[in-house]
Amino acid sequence: MTLRRLGLMPSTFLVMALSFVISFLSLLGQLRPWPATLPQGLLSLDIADELHYGPNATARFSIDYGRLTEAAPAAVLYPSSPDDIAALVRFSYASPRPFVIAARGHGHSTRGQAFAPGGVVVDMASLGRGRRAGRRDRINVPLDDVHRLRYVDAGGEQLWIDVLRETLEHGVAPRSWTDYLYLTVGGTLSNAGISGQAFRHGPQISNVHELDVITGKGDMVTCSRDVNSDLFYGVLGGLGQLGIITRARIAVEPAPQRVRWVRFIYTDFGSFINDQELLISISEEGFDYVEGQLLMKNGAANSSFFSEGDSEKIRVLAAEFGAIYFLEGAIYYELATASSVDQKLKLLLKKLSFVPGFAFTKDVSYLRFLDRVHRDEIKLRPMGLWDVPHPWLNLFVPKSRMRDFETGIFRGILIENDTPMATVLISPMNKSKWDEKMSVTIPDEDIFYAIGILRSATMDDRKHLDDQNDQILRFCDQAGIEFKQYLPHYTTQADWKKHFGVKWDRFVQLKRRYDPKALLSPGQRIFTTSL
Ligand code: FAD
Repeated sequence: MTLRRLGLMPSTFLVMALSFVISFLSLLGQLRPWPATLPQGLLSLDIADELHYGPNATARFSIDYGRLTEAAPAAVLYPSSPDDIAALVRFSYASPRPFVIAARGHGHSTRGQAFAPGGVVVDMASLGRGRRAGRRDRINVPLDDVHRLRYVDAGGEQLWIDVLRETLEHGVAPRSWTDYLYLTVGGTLSNAGISGQAFRHGPQISNVHELDVITGKGDMVTCSRDVNSDLFYGVLGGLGQLGIITRARIAVEPAPQRVRWVRFIYTDFGSFINDQELLISISEEGFDYVEGQLLMKNGAANSSFFSEGDSEKIRVLAAEFGAIYFLEGAIYYELATASSVDQKLKLLLKKLSFVPGFAFTKDVSYLRFLDRVHRDEIKLRPMGLWDVPHPWLNLFVPKSRMRDFETGIFRGILIENDTPMATVLISPMNKSKWDEKMSVTIPDEDIFYAIGILRSATMDDRKHLDDQNDQILRFCDQAGIEFKQYLPHYTTQADWKKHFGVKWDRFVQLKRRYDPKALLSPGQRIFTTSL
């Protein structure tokens, strides 16, 4: 008998077959020994069939992008809706044996920040593909008719690349980005979310109107600058400690069509940072994006931006000077105004002091520009160079100490020990674009730099590179450089207290109010016991 005669479309049959397989698998799950760290009562919840446990279910959630550390959760929740997450948190909060819970965005942390050892990891991605909500359903670009305000409402689990694609269909886009877009909205808003637009628009956390958050008590709260504002400010840059973001309302602007993308080479560090600081001080007539990089001689110009001929030219220069720098900028424009871009660039070039003959330009679509790092990922993956250990170190360094940083760290430690697979980002930030009330901590100077020392390791040299990271931190401490770690990693509360500085007491107060049993994001290792 054919399926059609039975009145079943093949796809319906497939769904039935799949549900049978899924039920069968959950049944098998029930037969496995129940994890000792989780209360049995959890199985009676509505979400029991979305909770998977045992080594096969948890293995993928025991590692992250960093591949430096491992810790297994007892179970993984695949929520279909925010209600499922709230039910889980409420259950743990009310339980005599509460267990820890970590939202996992895309697992792109490097030090286990999204782990939940012995507890439950919430696979946020399944919200976007759940039974009750399709991926597109959880990204909306409405128009607020009253305020003529445009924004995008995006699920906390959404990848920024999907937010970009959806908003572009409406001719708009968020203003502030990360360099790489395969990160989640909730994951970057829990840190800050920075890239070359931050000097003008602030980090991503400065561009949020409203959030839906599930607190550590399981309450579902909508917050903004005016409503439940302590939670709003606390969650932004709050390292997942106060709640799980399930929706963010993000500011958008009309999306440009094209980007003139430029890189200028410097052999002199002083000229390089002077020019960066000049560029972030001018607004409309300047660049829309400003970043920079250190190029060491072994890794010089291995990016896909430069042609082979240009790479060779740059490599020769880097070999002569030991290391060089490039300043990266971008001018956004519309096709209709294309003719004015050359003029604008010409005027800007006159103000800069790069090495003559070492200015390189490209003209690309806005999407191609923002999604540039993914191109490198596509190249590195088949070479086995993406899923490797990443002993990354990210620091915010005050402008006044950048020359000491250059001498002691770029020249003293990094160039001395040149590693081929290293990207060293040097991006200037305006403090005025950061909101003091948010949880993220930054140096106390009007201009500071985000320095990303992003190195790939092998199993053999990852310890060596991590020792070098310690050496860098020691150097800063001994030289009295008042840096802050970005995407911070500390193992003692005393270090966390120092990291938060004047914000610590307030942060503890908020933790006491919104997650008093210290259930959320235990992988950050800030609070290990109830407050
Ligand atoms: P995860 O690693 O899964 O989670 C990070 C933390 O946030 C965990 O503590 C987790 O429990 C918590 N969390 C996750 N989702 C939520 C949620 N919805 N609500 C509350 N808490 C949550 N950062 C930048 O700022 N700029 C960059 O240009 C940049 N480029 C990067 C490039 C690469 C290749 C990689 C690997 C990382 C980069 N990052 C960058 C760092 C990135 O912002 C962080 O790793 C961040 O944690 C986002 O990753 P994720 O979405 O995978 O979150």
